[in-house]
Amino acid sequence: MLRFAILLLFVGSDPLTDALNTIDEKTLQTHEAYLASDELEGRAAGFPGNEKAVEYLVKEVKSYGLAPAGVDGFTQEFKFGKERKAKNVVAELEGSDPKLKTEYVVIGGHLDHVGRKGQDVRGQSPGGPEGDEIWNGADDNGSGTSAILSIARAFAQGKVRPKRSLLFCFWNAEEAGLLGSLYWTKFPTRPLHKVVYCLNVDMIGRNPQRPMDLEGVKNAEGDDLERILSAALDGEEVKYTKFPHYNEAMFRSDGVNFLWQGIPASMLFTSWHADYHRSGDHADKIAYPNLAKIARASFRILNDVANLEKGLRLNLETPLQGRPLGLRGETLEGAALADLKLGDGNGAAKIAWVDAAGVLGQAGIQVGDVVTGFGGRPLPVYRPLETIWVRVQRTAGEQPAEVEVLRGGEKKALQATWPKKQ
Ligand SMILES: [Zn+2]
Repeated sequence: MLRFAILLLFVGSDPLTDALNTIDEKTLQTHEAYLASDELEGRAAGFPGNEKAVEYLVKEVKSYGLAPAGVDGFTQEFKFGKERKAKNVVAELEGSDPKLKTEYVVIGGHLDHVGRKGQDVRGQSPGGPEGDEIWNGADDNGSGTSAILSIARAFAQGKVRPKRSLLFCFWNAEEAGLLGSLYWTKFPTRPLHKVVYCLNVDMIGRNPQRPMDLEGVKNAEGDDLERILSAALDGEEVKYTKFPHYNEAMFRSDGVNFLWQGIPASMLFTSWHADYHRSGDHADKIAYPNLAKIARASFRILNDVANLEKGLRLNLETPLQGRPLGLRGETLEGAALADLKLGDGNGAAKIAWVDAAGVLGQAGIQVGDVVTGFGGRPLPVYRPLETIWVRVQRTAGEQPAEVEVLRGGEKKALQATWPKKQ
């Protein structure tokens, strides 16, 4: 008997290519043409031009079919300074995996800039084109804002649907001190302990001849993050320089607020230029072909992180304030945690590796110890080790701390002292 092999040939392209093709120069130019126009008066938080930018972003993400993920629809309002108000804009794409869709991958960038002459806004450097009194902020951060819009549309209207949910975040009042992202991490509109990663894009529209800064490739445990970042950027032929944890930009932009919560974050940044915070930061100076490549790479990064079997978690060796933790371990959950009878809301972690020369190693922490408290306070159920890491980074001077552990069922209090920060 003859057996036929039937070969079905699908003509057409794959969903990923289709989605990436919609992230094009023309779309980015259209967004920049409005966001960096004089009509928006430099988008300073608390001023009408900024409110117009917010309205534009809401209209866009709504038209893509994304779900609102703010407090009042897509927006989250907060107060700052002297009676000023500004709004973050947050949109969501629900993940495709019934279990993993309760976790989130964030892409964020700030929508505000430093406004126009006469507005009481800091950051308006002099020396722009003569007579130009509007700081349009096409690169800072119309570039990141336009990129996020194009990425959001590509996901919402295409056929690529990652397992985890995605949050498209447009932060406000970044120029006033990273305030919008700080506010969101304090009053998150989705559970913060379910956020596995934040990709921050701020100033990605200039210097196409120079390798872009890629900061934070090693801010997550293991190799997944670095592999994903490199593959995505290589795939779009973006030139870049890798920095393991941070370089110049991370501390000056919104991603750092996620690190401060123990969430791995990276940053894309095409570096400084003569128009930085000057009124000449105009839309016609944006390198659109390169911006489109970076935006497409960002799409790939989000998709790949959101599809990982195991969510990213912070690399505790990230020396945010020069203080790697020298510790690795697993968060205790379910019965293993309940058995410890620590009380409601209290968590613990089991230590799997200790740097013997590190502060905690010197304090006597051993592999197998279960850590239950740090600095006189219990640890939370979620991210207990990350919580220690955050508390350690926040200490500036010499800092003695008591570390509570269970060893063979017995309670021990170890003393650890971090040296004064150099
Ligand atoms: Zn800026």
